[in-house]
Amino acid sequence: MQILDGKALAQKIEKNVADKVVKLKNETGRTPGLAVILVGQDPASAAYVNMKKKACDRVGFYSVTHEMPEDISQEAIEKTITMMNDNPNIDGILVQLPLPPQIDTTKILELVDPSKDVDGFHPYNVGRLVTNLDGFVPCTPLGVMELLAEYDIDVKGKNCCVVGASNIVGKPMANLLLNADATVEICHIFTDDLKKHTLQADIILVGVGVINLIKEDMVKDGAIIIDIGINRAENGKLVGDVDFENVSKKCSYITPVPGGVGPMTIAMLLSNTLKAAELHAAENA
Ligand code: NAD
Repeated sequence: MQILDGKALAQKIEKNVADKVVKLKNETGRTPGLAVILVGQDPASAAYVNMKKKACDRVGFYSVTHEMPEDISQEAIEKTITMMNDNPNIDGILVQLPLPPQIDTTKILELVDPSKDVDGFHPYNVGRLVTNLDGFVPCTPLGVMELLAEYDIDVKGKNCCVVGASNIVGKPMANLLLNADATVEICHIFTDDLKKHTLQADIILVGVGVINLIKEDMVKDGAIIIDIGINRAENGKLVGDVDFENVSKKCSYITPVPGGVGPMTIAMLLSNTLKAAELHAAENA
């Protein structure tokens, strides 16, 4: 069994992004800029935003966080996004989800300029992903594809079982695998007999949010396991959706939690923001 080391690859990607930031600044005078919108006091959201901000600092991006109270109005968030859309110093806009219930999240995401949509959540970019055209791809599944490529794992013709079907993780994951010529099955909370499906898979990619959902008897010998889940165990430790201790004895490759997909998500946010900055620089050249 080999560990797929997302932390090491993320560091390599960060270094590469930092080098390209220097080059972009030298050639165009432009510094990539990321605006983050954080609504409310949810500690997990605040922690993620803080990690993203620190990563921006490490690679030399300009970044700004707009912190807003839980009871903020739809209009106030929309006004901020419109300002960021019009701000030439901002290349990427990230709205930290989830938003409070009074906010129409779809309307907010649709307002983000697709050329600044570094999370890849705007329907324009979703459509481009589905049709296998270049665009912005959600960071977590994009990071998984990069991690597989780093270890020379070719998904072409492989049976892939994606467990979890959210717009952020499962659906874009499935589309990326399909675009890379894998045979893809998507399972979710209403899937009958999950084990029947996972047992057929050469690669299982799980992003659900249930501790130990994937157990040893659900995995065929030599399978590749990508654990996207992030859960807080009773002892306070971060764990994924896979029973790592027992499944790791049976599989050929596995991502750890933490240190697998998580760091890759941040690395992809940086590379998506750099990509947006390079596109904006080319448009203004
Ligand atoms: P979500 O709640 O939006 O979606 C969960 C999905 O899992 C749904 O499609 C649901 O049908 C499915 N599901 C729920 N229970 C199931 C079960 N028992 N069997 C099969 N399917 C089931 O969540 P999300 O935003 O997609 O996040 C999923 C997990 O991925 C969470 O643990 C989250 O913390 C993690 N996550 C990790 C990263 C990262 O960087 N590694 C990024 C985003 C989300």
